[in-house]
Amino acid sequence: MSKETLGFQTEVKQLLQLMIHSLYSNKEIFLRELVSNASDACDKLRFAATQHADLYEGDGELQIKVSFDKDARTITIADNGIGMSRDEVVAHIGTIARSGTKEFFSQLTGDSAKDSHLIGQFGVGFYSAFIIADKVTLTTRRAGEKEATQWESAGDGEYTLEQVDKAGRGTEIVLHLKEGEDEFLNDWRLRSIITKYSDHISLPILMQKRAEYDDEGKEIPSTELEAVNQANALWTRSKSEISDEQYKEFYKHVAHDFEDPLAWSHARIEGRQEYTELLFVPKRAPFDLYDRDRRHGVKLYVKRVFIMEDSEKLMPQYLRFVRGVIDSADLPLNVSREILQQSRDVDSIKTGCVKKVLSLLEDLRDNRADDYAVFWQEFGKVIKEGVGEDIANKERIAGLCRFASTADEAAGEVVGLADYLGRLKEGQDKIYYITADTLAAAKNSPHLEVFRKKGIEVLLLADRVDEWLVSSLNEFDGRKLQSVAKGELDLSQFEDEAEKKQQEEAANNLKDVLEAIKGALGEQVKDVRVTHRLTDSPACLVVENHDMSANLERLLKSAGQ
Ligand code: ADP
Ligand code: MG
Repeated sequence: MSKETLGFQTEVKQLLQLMIHSLYSNKEIFLRELVSNASDACDKLRFAATQHADLYEGDGELQIKVSFDKDARTITIADNGIGMSRDEVVAHIGTIARSGTKEFFSQLTGDSAKDSHLIGQFGVGFYSAFIIADKVTLTTRRAGEKEATQWESAGDGEYTLEQVDKAGRGTEIVLHLKEGEDEFLNDWRLRSIITKYSDHISLPILMQKRAEYDDEGKEIPSTELEAVNQANALWTRSKSEISDEQYKEFYKHVAHDFEDPLAWSHARIEGRQEYTELLFVPKRAPFDLYDRDRRHGVKLYVKRVFIMEDSEKLMPQYLRFVRGVIDSADLPLNVSREILQQSRDVDSIKTGCVKKVLSLLEDLRDNRADDYAVFWQEFGKVIKEGVGEDIANKERIAGLCRFASTADEAAGEVVGLADYLGRLKEGQDKIYYITADTLAAAKNSPHLEVFRKKGIEVLLLADRVDEWLVSSLNEFDGRKLQSVAKGELDLSQFEDEAEKKQQEEAANNLKDVLEAIKGALGEQVKDVRVTHRLTDSPACLVVENHDMSANLERLLKSAGQ
C-alpha cells in the first residue's frame, strides 16, 4: 500500500494547540509520557504472551531505549512491547474516539494551569511529543504480525500512513526537534529527566553508556547500553526506599494524571491472600467520573505481570476514583478475564483493599482537614453512594460523610455525624435532618422553625444521593436518624411544664377547627394535627414515618416513575 494522507479529527487539532500552550512550561514531560506508553505496551505484551508465548518472537527481554542524534537533531524512544496494527494506529493516534469527549471539551477553561490536568486525564500523552517536536515519526509493528506501519505528522492537522518493514516488534518514535529545543540533545539532560520522572518504571530504560576518554583526552564513544533507572517495580520496593516524589511520579504513570495525588496507601498483605497494594486518591475528579464507560481504574498484576485494569472488579462503585496497583502473589498467571470476574480470591483482595482505602480516608479526615475538604468537594457525592452500596462498611462510610447543617448554614458541607453527636442537646437522642431539592429549600423549610427556636441542630440534605443515603442509614453510633418532616415529632423532652400545658390547651381549644379542616380536605390527607413544629408559618405538610419523603416522591416523579 502506498502512502496515504489522513486528517486529524477536529478535536485532535484543537487539543494539540491547547496542549502545546498549556504544557510548554513543563515541556520535559514529553519523555515521561512516551516512556509511560512504552511501559504500558510492554505490560500488554507480557500479558498477551502468557497465553501465546510465541508473541515474544524469541525476544523476551522487554525494554525501552532512549537515544539522540545531535546532527539529525532527533530523539528516539523505542520499545519492544505489543506494538500497534494499522487500525490501532488510526484509532489511538489519529482520533479521540472516547466516551466523554464532549464533556472533556466543555470543561476546558482556557486557563492553562486548570486545563493541563484535564488534558493529562484525557489521555493525550502521546501528543505531548509535539511540545518540542515539529515532526514525529512513529513506526510500529504489532507482535505476531508481519506488516509494520509508519505514521508521520507535523502536528498541523494531517498525518501520513505508510506500510513499511520493521524487523523487531514494538514501537519506535522519532522526534524531530523544533528550532531552539537543542537542550534535549544531551546525554546528561535526558538521563536526569528519566531519573526524575521515570525511575519507577519496572523495565530497564536503556541509554548508550557514557563515552570514555583515552590518555590524550580523546573521546571513545561506547556502543554498549546501560539502564538509567532502577528497573524494578516500585510497589515491590520497601516503603523506606521510596521517596514521596517517586510515589507521585508513579501515580502520574498509573493514573494517566498530570497532577500529584492527594494521598496514598502502600502495604504488603500476608495471610490467606498474599498481595501488595499501592493505592492512590487523586486530587481531582476525572471528567468521566459519572460515565459508565470510564477508561481507568485499579490495575491488577500477578507476580508483576500486568493482567487487567478494571474499574468494577477491584473497587466498588463508590470508590471508582481510586487508582493504583494490586499485585497478587497467589492468583494464577494464565487466568482469563472471565475467570477473574468470578474469582473469590479477587473478591477477598477487594475487601481488604476497600478497608485500606477507608482507613486512608479516615486518616485524611482526622489529620489533614484541609486536604479532606478538597477530597470531599471532589468526591463527596460518590462516597455518599457507598452508604447504600456497601452494607458491611456502612457505618465507616457514614462517618466519612460531610453535611450542611443549621449549626452554620453558610459553611456548606462541613459537618460530620460525629461532630453532630458531639453537639447533642441535653436529652436529645436523635440525629435530625431534612431533605430537599436544593439547599435553599432545605434552609427555608417551615419544618425547621421549632428546631431553630429550641436550638437543636438539623442536617440539611440537598444532594440527590442523600435520599438514598438516609433510606439506607437508620442509625449512626446508636442514634436514630429522624427526618424533621416525618411523623409525630416528639420534642417534649425539650419543653418545660408551662409549654406543655399551653399546648394541651391549644389542642383542646382547636378540636372543632381540626374537624372542620379534616372535613374540607377529605381524602387528600390522612390526618390533621395541632403541631408544635411551627413558630411562624400557619401550617405544613408532614408524611408518616414509614412513608416516602415528599422530596423522594418528587425525585421519583421527575425520573418518570
Ligand atoms: P493513554 O496512555 O492515556 O492511553 P496516550 O495518548 O499516551 O494516552 O496514548 C494513546 C494510545 O496510543 C495508548 O492508549 C495506546 O493504545 C497507544 N500507544 C501509544 N504509545 C504506544 C506504544 N509505544 N506502543 C503501543 N501502543 C501505544
Ligand atoms: Mg500515555
